[in-house]
Amino acid sequence: MPRGWIVPRECSRGPSPVAESVEMWRMHASAILWAAGLGLLGAPAGLGAPAKAPRQKVLLVSFDGFRWDYDRRADTPNLDRMAQDGVKALYVTPPYLTITSPTHFTLLTGRYIENHGVVHNMWFNTSTLEKTPYYQTQFVNEWWDNGSLPIWITAQKQGLKAGSLHFPGTASSYQGQVAMVQEVEPPLYNYNNETAWRENTDKVMGWFRDQDLDFVSLYFGEPDGTGHRFGPDSPQIRAVVEQVDRTVGYLRHSADRHGLTGRLNIIITSDHGMSTVYRNGLVEDITLSRIPGFSFSDLAFHLVDYGPSGMLLPKPGLLEKVYGALKGAHPHLHVFKKEELPERLHFANNDRILPIVLWADAGYVINGYFPVQFNKGEHGFDNQEMDMKPFFRAVGPAFRRNLEVGPFETVNIYPLMCHILGIEPEVNDGHLDATKHMLVASATSQGVDYLPNVFIGFAAVAGFLVLVFIAMTSCKIIQKQRGNKGSSEHLPEKEKTLQTSL
Ligand SMILES: [Zn+2]
Repeated sequence: MPRGWIVPRECSRGPSPVAESVEMWRMHASAILWAAGLGLLGAPAGLGAPAKAPRQKVLLVSFDGFRWDYDRRADTPNLDRMAQDGVKALYVTPPYLTITSPTHFTLLTGRYIENHGVVHNMWFNTSTLEKTPYYQTQFVNEWWDNGSLPIWITAQKQGLKAGSLHFPGTASSYQGQVAMVQEVEPPLYNYNNETAWRENTDKVMGWFRDQDLDFVSLYFGEPDGTGHRFGPDSPQIRAVVEQVDRTVGYLRHSADRHGLTGRLNIIITSDHGMSTVYRNGLVEDITLSRIPGFSFSDLAFHLVDYGPSGMLLPKPGLLEKVYGALKGAHPHLHVFKKEELPERLHFANNDRILPIVLWADAGYVINGYFPVQFNKGEHGFDNQEMDMKPFFRAVGPAFRRNLEVGPFETVNIYPLMCHILGIEPEVNDGHLDATKHMLVASATSQGVDYLPNVFIGFAAVAGFLVLVFIAMTSCKIIQKQRGNKGSSEHLPEKEKTLQTSL
C-alpha cells in the first residue's frame, strides 16, 4: 500500500479536489521552507551579528603629576566609585626620567625612554647650544618622530580612528601621519580651569560618538602645577585633587550622556608623582659651581636647573675630569657615566642621552651656577621612589569590577590598550601578561564572543526547523484522521516526494 498524504474529505469535492489540495499544501510547505531557509541564511547576520559586540573604544586620560596616594588626602567619591566599578592599581611605576614628555610618550608607545628617544621635556642641540622649553618642544617634529609610533598612528594604520587632546606629542606627525582628530593647547594655556576641563571632556566624548573614534588620549595639566608650586603636602593639593575627582565623575557622566558607557573603556593614570623639596637651611643645597674641581668651562653643553636631574656633555677629553670632580661630591648627588647607569632605569642606550647623567635624592634639586629653583614640589627622581609613582584606574566593558591589583610598570599600558582595541602593537617594552588579569574573560577586541553567537543562531534555526517539522507532522496526523473519516485517495508519488523532503 503506497504511503502518502491523505486528502482531507472536504477538499475532495469539486472537479479536481486532490490536485487542488496538493497545490495548497505545496504552497504552504514552500512558504515554511522558504521562511526556514531565509532564517538559516540569515542566522549569522540576524542572530549572530546582533550579539556580536561592536569594537570597544579606549579613552586614555592623564592627570599630570597625580601621585599614587593623592586620593588618600582628599574626599574622592568619584575615584572611589570608579574603583568599585572597575580596576584600581595600588600604584604604577613610570619610566626614568620621571618627567612629563618622556613618560607620556612611554604611555603612547610602550617603550622605555632610551628606546623611544624623547629623553627630556626640552629639545636641545649640543652643537648650537639651543634649548626649547616644554611647550615649544611640542612643535619640534623630529624630537618626537624618531622611530617609535604612538598608538594613534598604529591604530590608524590598522583602520581605526584616533584622536588626542592636549596630550604631549599630539602636535607632531609620525612617519607623515598625525592623529586624525587633534587639539593642541594654545601658548600660555591655563591648565587648571575646571570649566575648560569639562568642555574638553564633552568635546572628546563628542569625537567618540559623532566621529566614531576608537581611541583618544586626553591630558589635564593638574595636579602637577599645584604640586610644583605649593608642594604635595599642601592644602592646595587637596583642593585640586577634589577638582580631579569631580572631573572624573563628570567624565563618566559625559560618557553616559553620549551613549558610550557600554563600549568605552576609560583608563585614568598619570606620568609621574611629586616630592617635597627641602630648603631654607633644612638641607645642604646641591649647587654644581660650588663643587671643588668642577667648572662649567669644562662642559660643551649642559641641562641642569631642571629639578633633580641633569645631563652634562664635557668638552673632548674632559669626561674623566668632570666625572671625577662630581662623583661623591655631595651625599645626595648621584653621578653616572651614562653607560654605568643601573640597567633598571633603561636610560642609557640612546645618543640623545648625554655622557654624564646626574640625579638627586628625594628632597633635593640640582642647581647649576647658583640656586634658582624655588618650587616646593618636584619630580624627575629615581622611579623607585614611592613619591614618583602615579595612580591607575580603569573602568569599562573590558575590565573586571571592584578589583584592586598590584603595581606594574606603565610600559604595560600600551599593550593593554592595543589588546582592547584589537590592533597589533608595535615592538614595545611592555607585556600583556602584566595587566591581563584585570580584564574580563571575553575582553578581547572586536567581535567579542562572535563564534558562540553564531552557534546560538544556528541552534535557534534548528529549533525553528524542528517546530516546522512538528507542525507539518501534526497537520499530517490531523489530515490522516480526517481522511480516515472520508476519502482515502493517495497523492501522486512526486507530491509525496516533495512533502517528505522537509
Ligand atoms: Zn608631568
